[in-house]
Amino acid sequence: MRLYNTLTRRKEEFAPLEKNHIRMYHCGPTVYDHAHIGNFRAFVFADILRRYFEFRGYRVTQVMNITDVGHMTTDADEGEDKLEVAAKRQRKDPYSIARFYEASFFEDVDALRIRRAHHYPRATEHIPEMIALIEKLLKKGYAYKAADGVYFDVTKFEGYGKLSGNTVERLMAGARVAVNPNKRNPYDFALWKFDPKHLMQWDAPWGRGFPGWHIECSAMSVKYLGETFDIHTGGEDGIFPHHECEIAQSEAATGKPFVRFWLHVRFLLVDGQKMSKSLGNFYTVKDILKKGYSGRVLRYVLMSTHYRKNLNFTFEGLDAAKAAIERMENFVLSMQDVAGASDDPAVDEALKKAEKDFVEAMDDDIEISAALAAVFEMIRAVNRASPSQKQAQRAIRLMHRFDEVLAVLDVERKKEVPEEVLELVRRRQEARKAKDYATADAIREQVRKLGYLIEDTPKGPRVKPLSD
Ligand code: AMP
Ligand code: ZN
Repeated sequence: MRLYNTLTRRKEEFAPLEKNHIRMYHCGPTVYDHAHIGNFRAFVFADILRRYFEFRGYRVTQVMNITDVGHMTTDADEGEDKLEVAAKRQRKDPYSIARFYEASFFEDVDALRIRRAHHYPRATEHIPEMIALIEKLLKKGYAYKAADGVYFDVTKFEGYGKLSGNTVERLMAGARVAVNPNKRNPYDFALWKFDPKHLMQWDAPWGRGFPGWHIECSAMSVKYLGETFDIHTGGEDGIFPHHECEIAQSEAATGKPFVRFWLHVRFLLVDGQKMSKSLGNFYTVKDILKKGYSGRVLRYVLMSTHYRKNLNFTFEGLDAAKAAIERMENFVLSMQDVAGASDDPAVDEALKKAEKDFVEAMDDDIEISAALAAVFEMIRAVNRASPSQKQAQRAIRLMHRFDEVLAVLDVERKKEVPEEVLELVRRRQEARKAKDYATADAIREQVRKLGYLIEDTPKGPRVKPLSD
């Protein structure tokens, strides 16, 4: 399997460090507000990776942090803590803000059928680990204490810039940052900040304060995954400074390589611009659900463009996703009705080809659009052929196997139409037979109000839930 590694800027053959066990870390939400669907593009990608590795038979340990302190309103060290801004605005304490939006995040995770990670460490519950890491950096001479905090001296770590290309020399040659006179070098970053006004503070050997944003990911990933682990993901905005700083801190402290593969998800765009809180051009998962789309339709949109391409979000995209899922489900439903006894070799061929193409596409840096194309190609080929019942059952099993990764089907729920609705459908059929179309239409409307749609097919009426 090959994955594009931001660190080496090319696709590389991937195998886990530990046999059959993949250890992954994903930058998680900063819980000061509902996550928007751009954030969820990154989280759904993490889930696709997890599910695909499991599909391939690997054991996966997956960690996603919950940032509940230290993420400033700018990606640099300046500005205010996002949690504090929200707390002041809502006149609540930052912990209740954090817990509220964390709960909202998990609702969205479930709506999007994301498998729960094995650990969701909260930054505020790992302060001792961060303090220990900072102490190590101070002792080794990579960090220093200044008047307003403890900083990492970027000139001391030789590899600074290897992920993003932003080496100290290049940074110094480029645009100047606002110089904080407390720092030795303008690009040094905060490990710990002193701020008597901050609402969340902890005692540390060098003074009371709160941790920087980068140090939390270093401390928590190493705690749950070890000093060197396989994969770290995040959105493309994480490359610099966040991930560059994570590498510097972790490798300076342990003297070992930190992460083997760095995978970055390109932005979800709206009208060609990054979807973000600060631009105000965002939708939350809940906004989309309120408009009548199901979580799995949104999931389909978020996952179906290759993660290293920008995804332009549109409502037409959601409608197309809904139609695509329906095509898959209708295929499974129609296969359930197949009763033929004789095999058609074209079906065997179609199934074999689909499985091979799906795996090949996913093995090639998670080329999910090609993997989905393989699924639809199979549907077309089987629909053109005449499968036996046995072959139809195999086709159903294969669709469910693909769905272990895709997680968009809901065929069972579709089959379970309530008796009340079925009774109305029967009465409508009688009315139609008696050419009483007014009654037939009234019943159709009654069924619609119950959340179901009647489709008249040559084989008779078919009932579908309206909601998805
Ligand atoms: P945050 O809650 O700001 O810490 O971000 C959580 C994750 O979402 C990070 O990995 C970001 O890089 C990612 N992210 C933020 N905006 C977008 C976007 N428009 N498209 C894709 N990923 C994003
Ligand atoms: Zn992070």
